[in-house]
Amino acid sequence: YARLRLILGDQLNENHSWFREVDNATVYCLFETHSEATYTRHHVQKITGFFLAMRAFANRLRELGHHVVYRSLDETLAAGHHSITDCVSHLRREQENPAFEYQLPDEWRLDQELKLYSEKAGGVACDSEHFLSVREDVGRLFADKQRYLMETFYREMRRRHDILMDANGEPATGQWNYDQDNRGRISAEVSIPESPRFERDGGEIVTLLERHGIATMGRMPGNRFTYPVTRRECLEALSDFCRHRLVHFGTYQDAMTTRHPLLFHANLSFAMNTKLLGPREVIDAAINAWRERPEEITINQVEGFVRQILGWREYMRGVYWAQMPEFAEVNALDHRADLPEWYWTGDTKMNCLSHAINQSLDLAYAHHIQRLMITGNFALILGAHPDAVDAWYLGVYIDAIEWVEITNTRGMSQRADGGLIATKPYCSSANYINKMSDYCRGCHYDPKQHTGPRACPFNSLYWDFLDRHRERLGSNYRMAFMYKGWERKGGEQQAAILERAAWVKAHVNEL
Ligand code: FAD
Ligand code: SF4
Repeated sequence: YARLRLILGDQLNENHSWFREVDNATVYCLFETHSEATYTRHHVQKITGFFLAMRAFANRLRELGHHVVYRSLDETLAAGHHSITDCVSHLRREQENPAFEYQLPDEWRLDQELKLYSEKAGGVACDSEHFLSVREDVGRLFADKQRYLMETFYREMRRRHDILMDANGEPATGQWNYDQDNRGRISAEVSIPESPRFERDGGEIVTLLERHGIATMGRMPGNRFTYPVTRRECLEALSDFCRHRLVHFGTYQDAMTTRHPLLFHANLSFAMNTKLLGPREVIDAAINAWRERPEEITINQVEGFVRQILGWREYMRGVYWAQMPEFAEVNALDHRADLPEWYWTGDTKMNCLSHAINQSLDLAYAHHIQRLMITGNFALILGAHPDAVDAWYLGVYIDAIEWVEITNTRGMSQRADGGLIATKPYCSSANYINKMSDYCRGCHYDPKQHTGPRACPFNSLYWDFLDRHRERLGSNYRMAFMYKGWERKGGEQQAAILERAAWVKAHVNEL
């Protein structure tokens, strides 16, 4: 072959211009490597998902007539090749040094590895043709600002891509934002539709990982893997979402319930992060569904969904490229605590955490509010070290790739960025959780109590968090209301709450 093109596990985009024509002088290569399977302790379903999707993509390219070299983990390890560039370099030697091309990776780590390799051994990078913004957009937009604002970026993206806009450059339905309609609590009467399962046996990958001593986290009940891993399946999952769940997506976006892990969320992050689906086609599908069924799907559902993808997803990627590599080290609140052991087992009497963690361990999925206001919130008010929090989030979710994991975890959730991404910390007491979920009803702890053995641990930790960060957060105008609430409690009650918080911190593994 005259040319070798590398495809990473999260670059499974068959609409990339590379594949427009079949070229007999080009070989595409995909590698299952030890370095990718072990750079963090991944959920077993996450590695299974990536390997199955990569294998299916290699077959798909062959079906389309392309030449493909696929090396399984058995093969790369038998040859002693641990990293992607080891594999590339060996294959190039085997093929008498063909030209080398790769798509720009989304992770800093791989970006560096491939850049260095290409400088030494020759190689050309091209765009992955997936995102709707370029790496530099966010950094450029906020070049002279201390804080970034997602809303500013999102409006700019709506205008640039002419999405939900009228001919005068104004929002088509008169409003940019329908967030105030999107805070519904879900009642027992609302039925939640089942989503499609794409059942496969993941046993072979589990055995493969065991054979090579690769440690994982989480569970895969019965070795049944159920995420979509081909483009056809992903398109089916997208269409199922638009048909059945988009109708309440916005309304119940912030709701949580023990009744269903997904509620009305899309569960399309794995499909998008592997690039099996493109963001534009997902946005267009939702907007088309709204246009076709306006009596059924209201604008707040669609705008809420578009905002997540055109806004948050693109924004987080831009923040990543503007802030890395320093971002991976920030710890603005100087948090140092360990993450409780039960984050790895789900074994806690706190119902909300038990539910969110067990669900994450079983499904490699939790929806945004579970990630932000249950597991993230607890780690934040406890004062867990952002490295430990990052390691858990990067491992546990099937969609966890560093560019979108670290920005959400270290930035949005743990405020380790000093408030660059979000205007206020996402911390709360049991009050919020009780309002937005049915978790507290079945809990060992009492959401109303702040002190005493049955007091919900969120309550004392929340006040303790505010108290110990008064210097850093007290002047934030969005926090004024919370600090007033703390002051109203008076010295005696404050002391009792801080005492309970100290007990909770000292016994966190027993909660
Ligand atoms: P939906 O609620 O249906 O939203 C639709 C799509 O919008 C998602 O698929 C996703 O692509 C996008 N989206 C929504 N919110 C965000 C966001 N804040 N940032 C980026 N994209 C967003 N998302 C990941 O893809 N990978 C991660 O590793 C990840 N880690 C997170 C860690 C924390 C602490 C938090 C608070 C959020 C994290 N998110 C992450 C964002 C978000 O929670 C997930 O994208 C979402 O839960 C995926 O489920 P869904 O497809 O059902 O999403
Ligand atoms: Fe969670 Fe506290 Fe409610 Fe229990 S009482 S479910 S620990 S918020």
